[in-house]
Amino acid sequence: MPGVEDLYREIILDHYRTPRNRGELPPPAVCTEGNNPLCGDDIRIFLDIADGVVRDVKFSGQGCSISQSSTSMMTVAIKGRPVDEVRALVRRFKHMMTLSDDDGAVDESIKLGDIEALGGVVKFPVRIKCATLGWNTLLEGLNSTQG
Ligand code: ZN
Repeated sequence: MPGVEDLYREIILDHYRTPRNRGELPPPAVCTEGNNPLCGDDIRIFLDIADGVVRDVKFSGQGCSISQSSTSMMTVAIKGRPVDEVRALVRRFKHMMTLSDDDGAVDESIKLGDIEALGGVVKFPVRIKCATLGWNTLLEGLNSTQG
């Protein structure tokens, strides 16, 4: 029987090998870019926001399996969701990664689904930046539009 760590590793590798929502969106979609020089991760997030809802999201870039799979899982989780819920999800995720949550209360009832697989990364502090890169880049995009 595979342990939960094996299962999580499979989920991460699956998103790395078969990334979801990979690609780009043309303007007027918002594009933000983030990088993690410690690891060489590079992520671009494209957001199509209208009426307070993330109508579409795509990402491009390259990097390690943690950065790419985390961003892939994120796009699945936020597509079609209201911006308010997306912000709450980002807070919940960053809380799991034991980063600052001082920009609002964390709603522990929010389901992370596959994203839980990244929880084990907390044990490897240098990889936390990899796991959160896409999410921080997403936040920049959300903050740059009032859609
Ligand atoms: Zn990395």
